[in-house]
Amino acid sequence: MDIALSFKYQYFMKTSLSTFIKHTAKDFHNRSVNPPVVRASTIIFKNLQEIEKTQKKYIKDPRSANFDYGRQGTSTTHALQRILQEMEECYKVYLTPTGFGAVFLAVLSVVEPGDEILITDSVYSPTRRLTEDYLKKFNIKSIFYDPKNFNDLKSKITNKTKLIFVENPGSNTFEFQDLRKIISLAKKHKIYTAIDNTWGTPYLIKPIKLGFDMSIVSATKYYSGHSDVMGGSLAINKKVFKLVEATNRVTGMRLSPDDAYLILRGIRTLDVRMDKHQINALKVAKFLSKQKKIISVYYPYKKNSQNYKLWKKYYSGTSGLMGLKVKSKNRNSVKSFVNSLKLFGYGFSWGGFESLALYQNQKQMGKRSFSNLKKDEHIIRLHIGLEDPVDIINDLKQAIKKIK
Ligand SMILES: *Cc1c(COP(=O)(O)O)cnc(C)c1O
Repeated sequence: MDIALSFKYQYFMKTSLSTFIKHTAKDFHNRSVNPPVVRASTIIFKNLQEIEKTQKKYIKDPRSANFDYGRQGTSTTHALQRILQEMEECYKVYLTPTGFGAVFLAVLSVVEPGDEILITDSVYSPTRRLTEDYLKKFNIKSIFYDPKNFNDLKSKITNKTKLIFVENPGSNTFEFQDLRKIISLAKKHKIYTAIDNTWGTPYLIKPIKLGFDMSIVSATKYYSGHSDVMGGSLAINKKVFKLVEATNRVTGMRLSPDDAYLILRGIRTLDVRMDKHQINALKVAKFLSKQKKIISVYYPYKKNSQNYKLWKKYYSGTSGLMGLKVKSKNRNSVKSFVNSLKLFGYGFSWGGFESLALYQNQKQMGKRSFSNLKKDEHIIRLHIGLEDPVDIINDLKQAIKKIK
């Protein structure tokens, strides 16, 4: 009866992730391939003893579907939670209504007044605002490190450092870091670690297996894949379970069953979409790297580059998001390049089936302590979608002519 009961937990051990996401979470009770949307605030029980029993069961096994109230989830959200837990190979996954909610939950779960957080400089800008600005009033200090320089990170550790927050690759400039080095440094100093893995997802890298305590994915992006729903996931290991569980109880942030359903539907094809994003983006990166007006392509395509080596060390593939650095004294001509693209939409977010473009100046990119842009440098963020790559490249070809 319960979807959790029809869930094939063992599947993952015997098959690859691609097969697992096709065959898991079937609803044998309703005989539907996908689990139904179960909406609930009140969950009704046969009698009072059953309520007590359910609560006790949950405390004994906090990964079970023993919910007593809608805020804790329903069978639909639990199905998604279970899938992600298997994919991440982690202790537990928490679902949040947005990806940023998962960032909030991760950070707030471990920090206390007086603590310091070490954060990668090219972090997603709302994460920077949360740590650098908002947490200041709780006497929590945020220190930013250069993602291209491990020794910078190392030198900034103090006896107050509670958390190292990594984003790999970084937003807009896409630096790849030496993850194992960071993890062992943190373990040596008894510091918690979190990583924002939205670019890669567990299809390309499994951070909890690697040794991170917490791993964030914005489900809005590749999990959903269709630009029509928001959600987030926080995967954790056993070490931080008590802290995250306690914080999760008081945040009140929950993913709705309808949104969980859409995300689960998207995940069925995560592998197929990611493989095609990679094929298309690699073709685009190689084309762009040959254009004189583009001075850098932030994407791991160039063998022997530092970014390529660090990507290769940890990832089984690439996704569709990249950055380009354009050099031009004529800002309007760069904007005109972006505005002349016909296949690319202009808008925030990414990870959907369609291509997107954004012009990022320093202000839009957010504050940076390192690698600030010069006046004649501009960053264009491209999300390479699932269109025919010949069409995407032709579109870029005609638009690039606008750059003066
Ligand atoms: C989009 C994004 C987020 C936030 O996700 P939302 O679902 O938009 O809240 C967090 N981190 C990274 C790297 C992102 O790109």
